[in-house]
Amino acid sequence: MDDGDVAVEDAKHDFIREIVRDDVEAGRADPVVTRFPPEPNGYLHIGHAKSICLNFGIAQQFGGRCHLRFDDTNPVKEEQEYIDAIETDVRWLGFNWGENRFFASDNFEQLYDWAEHLISAGLAYVDDQTADEMRETRGTLTEPGTNSPYRDRTVDENLDLFRRMRAGEFPDGARVLRAKIDMASGNINLRDPVLYRILHATHPRTGDAWCIYPTYDFAHGQSDAIEGVTHSICTLEFEDHRPLYDWLIEKLPVPSRPRQYEFARLNLSYTVLSKRRLIQLVTDGHVRGWDDPRLPTLSGLRRRGFPPAAIRDFAGRIGVAKRDSVVDVAMLEHCVRELLNQEAPRRMAVLRPLKVVIENYPEGDTEHLPAVNNPNDESAGTREVPFSRELYVERDDFMEDPPRKFYRLSPGREVRLRYAYFVTCQEVVKDANGDVVELRCTYDPETRGGNAPDGRKVKATLHWVSAAHAQSAEIRLYDYLFSRPDPGADGDYLADLNAKSLEILEGCQLEPALADLPVGEAVQFERQGYFCLDPDSAPEKLIFNRTIALRDSWAKAKSKPT
Ligand code: ATP
Ligand code: MG
Repeated sequence: MDDGDVAVEDAKHDFIREIVRDDVEAGRADPVVTRFPPEPNGYLHIGHAKSICLNFGIAQQFGGRCHLRFDDTNPVKEEQEYIDAIETDVRWLGFNWGENRFFASDNFEQLYDWAEHLISAGLAYVDDQTADEMRETRGTLTEPGTNSPYRDRTVDENLDLFRRMRAGEFPDGARVLRAKIDMASGNINLRDPVLYRILHATHPRTGDAWCIYPTYDFAHGQSDAIEGVTHSICTLEFEDHRPLYDWLIEKLPVPSRPRQYEFARLNLSYTVLSKRRLIQLVTDGHVRGWDDPRLPTLSGLRRRGFPPAAIRDFAGRIGVAKRDSVVDVAMLEHCVRELLNQEAPRRMAVLRPLKVVIENYPEGDTEHLPAVNNPNDESAGTREVPFSRELYVERDDFMEDPPRKFYRLSPGREVRLRYAYFVTCQEVVKDANGDVVELRCTYDPETRGGNAPDGRKVKATLHWVSAAHAQSAEIRLYDYLFSRPDPGADGDYLADLNAKSLEILEGCQLEPALADLPVGEAVQFERQGYFCLDPDSAPEKLIFNRTIALRDSWAKAKSKPT
């Protein structure tokens, strides 16, 4: 789907949309303006997708607009690389901010003026206490804080010091600007919160123009007001910041009056979604980069082959609520499978090849057999698959001494090769170690296309590829990055890393139609799962990622004793 072309599927309902609807009907939001406000200090993840779908979705549903706003107020942690990645990811997810890309840093001059406005009104002061001293005097949930000894500086003294902070006269941490609200407030966020701190750091956009930077609390609501945001939607941890949000909007001569609303963030089983942890996983090398297909980052999910439409579907299904919960990752996987089952073309690929020689098939012959591309989409048509005397089948599809109920290949057993013929295993060839290296089979030429004219049945249908025509490939199989649903619940989440989250198979054999698939495009390997070509791939070395297995074999394997 093209940028911004996402249809508003069915109009959704949740408590935030109810609020927006009321505001629209009462004429309080014309137009509705929302924003998605990432801090460019990491890559976006599936939790952000929930927020993106909510903010952009509401704007679409109510005929308004959604801004992409970079909350770039901490130059120490922010980088251009993250800005670029965030834009790529939001577009990939199917949303378009049009002209409405903003940066909190665009407002630095205005925010500075408003800080002076607060000082002049006696509502802010420069505090010389150290960070430790401020922490000690902040009080606790049950005890009030105590006033700073610098709280009663005069307006002139405050203005002078604040201007000198801006001019770079003081080192990092020497002073801060604080709002003068109430050190005894029941809400700790109102106990003279910090509005500005000194940071001699180069900012990705403003360079060295500033050495003081506004805090999130001072920048966020004011940026909302400047942009005309009507509904500033954020996650629950900001609920206690709302009184401060409102206080600043009330005290400052801002051009509009946005309101903040909070919803529960997405938590997902087997997954960590904190940026701090994701950064650690990447920088400490527990994964192969931000776009490692095992990560819940949007770039990782993209590389893995999760379609953006499946992620939007997931975001719609989990809904928006006010209470924290953990969503089962199986639900996300379900959305991916359901979509790919409809859309992904079918191909044949043998992951762990075992050679089969059809002894009664003429040497040197090849025939091309029609194979259905997608049983759920007739318009996808058919393709031709080459068949010849030497084939590969899946090692798991053969057992020399099969238990009851194993209906696949074994000595003397007849099975169907999909789209091709019935074949019967006549002989097992082993190497010096006694390992099976080849099967000698015969085929029944009467069964071309996979049906016997005499009506006899076989109990198994196997996928296969012709050895002479096969493309060799590396295939990367992924399991959950963590081995328990609640990583870190017992302390160190790194201790819960799944040592077997990545399995690399070499020498996999693919049907030739898979040679020129575009990177990222989903295919189903019959009986195996959904796969896509990895960007590491090259014509001389194909690399596929398994997006997801066909069924939830993981849960099944776990419940089985091994
Ligand atoms: P951290 O992971 O350290 O808490 P963050 O993910 O909140 O950081 P931001 O860049 O501030 O980082 O997030 C941008 C927006 O995405 C915010 O409005 C935030 O509330 C929202 N968001 C972040 N994580 C989630 C989540 N798990 N579920 C829903 N929304 C989220
Ligand atoms: Mg945040």
